[in-house]
Amino acid sequence: MNHVFPRHSKSLPPMGHAGDGVYLVDTNGKSYIDGSGGAAVSCLGHSDPDVINAIKDQLDAMAFAHTSFLSSQPAEKLADKLIEHAPKGLDRVYFVSGGSEAVEAALKLARQYFVETGQPERSKIIARRQSYHGNTLGALAVGGNEWRRAPFAPLLMDVSHISPCYAYRGQHEGESEAEFGLRMANELETEILRLGTDNVMAFVAEPVVGATLGAVPAADGYFARVREICDQHGVLLILDEVMCGMGRTGTLFASEHDKISPDICTIAKGLGAGYQPVGAMLCSAKIYDAIEQGSGFFQHGHTYVGHPTACAAGLAVLEKLTSGLVDGVSAKGKMLQDMLRSVLGQHANVGDIRGRGLFVGVEFVKDRDTKACLDPEMKFNAKLKKAAFAHGLICYPMGGTIDGVQGDHVLLAPPFISTQDHLGEIVQKLTLAVGSVTVDLGL
Ligand code: PLP
Repeated sequence: MNHVFPRHSKSLPPMGHAGDGVYLVDTNGKSYIDGSGGAAVSCLGHSDPDVINAIKDQLDAMAFAHTSFLSSQPAEKLADKLIEHAPKGLDRVYFVSGGSEAVEAALKLARQYFVETGQPERSKIIARRQSYHGNTLGALAVGGNEWRRAPFAPLLMDVSHISPCYAYRGQHEGESEAEFGLRMANELETEILRLGTDNVMAFVAEPVVGATLGAVPAADGYFARVREICDQHGVLLILDEVMCGMGRTGTLFASEHDKISPDICTIAKGLGAGYQPVGAMLCSAKIYDAIEQGSGFFQHGHTYVGHPTACAAGLAVLEKLTSGLVDGVSAKGKMLQDMLRSVLGQHANVGDIRGRGLFVGVEFVKDRDTKACLDPEMKFNAKLKKAAFAHGLICYPMGGTIDGVQGDHVLLAPPFISTQDHLGEIVQKLTLAVGSVTVDLGL
């Protein structure tokens, strides 16, 4: 009776039974507060009646139609609403079923744009170390998450990786935030010049780095300079907002904070909020027009692109996000960071508490002064995940924060519907878990 191929064959999860607001309940009746929305997915919790009804209504009307034959009302409406709220210049939406698919579509569209506009020599991609853009081969190649890449390295296309804008470890003593941001952004220009301006196709980055670094926003000014460099060298800017977008950082699109528009943007996770697998790739009118006036055909596609039921869910989610819910995210995020600081801020093994909106990371260290990492052999992050789960908390710890091997952090991304009490419960359970793991490890 056990034919599901699980994530980890040696540690099987309990069986989920129900979703109830910010809680998930297993078949033994144990409930877990969802402190990370799974992996920054469940922004509306697990039992939103409006989204559930929108899905049911769409299933009654038309469950699926292949987009080579019919478009659908939910896809059209969702695209309109996304563009209404998207950064200036973005004009078209290509719907897919998740984040990796959105990134693959972005990469192929960038390439096709240059083929169609007579610049076929542009094929090089620059991205950043310690980033994650998905697990399909193209997205994995672009990502800079070393342990995820390692076994598949021989299969991955050649991508340049520059430094992430990671202030806790990258900012020099005496360097201002603006100077740091500028120094990091200028690495992009150095790499473009090294590869040859006419050969570079795109720069890909997460506006706020999620799972790999643990909620690290860029320094103010970083993305403005990146935009400037891309414009100067004719390079497309692809912002991956699969994790940090859709209100997670306090604005519907994370790049709003940086006051720039990408040429291509990817979203997923919070768009379907877990109710349906849906993602999207948004592109500028300039890119779309090049295809329309060229071949007229984006040479891409999957069976489920623009799935009507998935889009109906996305539309119902987006209606909620844009009717005031996202407006509360920054204040709730501050509350969460304040609570974390008050109980864990002085903990001997907590090096940094950071994030933006309800996207918060805690980085753990052996020594706060030297920022020395915990021994990876201790498997602090795996132990923390287990201990938190035992205490009834779902959170997202990860190791290899610094280089794929060294470093431990935990990512918190609670639902936007979380109350002060819920945030307090998350912090209290996390603190208990940190306490039990540090005692077990003799720290
Ligand atoms: N891009 C980013 C920034 C992500 O965080 C993720 C997933 O965590 C992906 C892409 C891949 O998304 P998916 O797992 O839906 O394929």
